[in-house]
Amino acid sequence: MAHDYHQGAANYNPYQLFHDGCAECKLNAESMYPFSKIKDMRQAWHRACRFEQGRLEPEEAVSNVEVRVLRILWSLMVRLEREGLSLGLYPGDISGVMYPIGRAHTPGNKRII
Ligand SMILES: [Zn+2]
Repeated sequence: MAHDYHQGAANYNPYQLFHDGCAECKLNAESMYPFSKIKDMRQAWHRACRFEQGRLEPEEAVSNVEVRVLRILWSLMVRLEREGLSLGLYPGDISGVMYPIGRAHTPGNKRII
């Protein structure tokens, strides 16, 4: 399936992760792995946060097909907040200070797992 030419669509919005009226965007947004098709995950993260907080500008209107993906991202943010990650803070921006997988959050980063 060829991907539609979004920029030529009457409802094209460059801020949207997935575009209404595009069959491939709809398929990707509804798939089990919608994040694999997102070009800029950092931008998507912040877009989802601002969407749920009602802080998107009118020109950043969401498409119907991306709403599900934005809400999944938001639910992850809310869950990660309980782990100490501030709402809206993109994990990639602090990845250098995160603990390696399989290590506990203990002083000195002692391996207990
Ligand atoms: Zn598309």
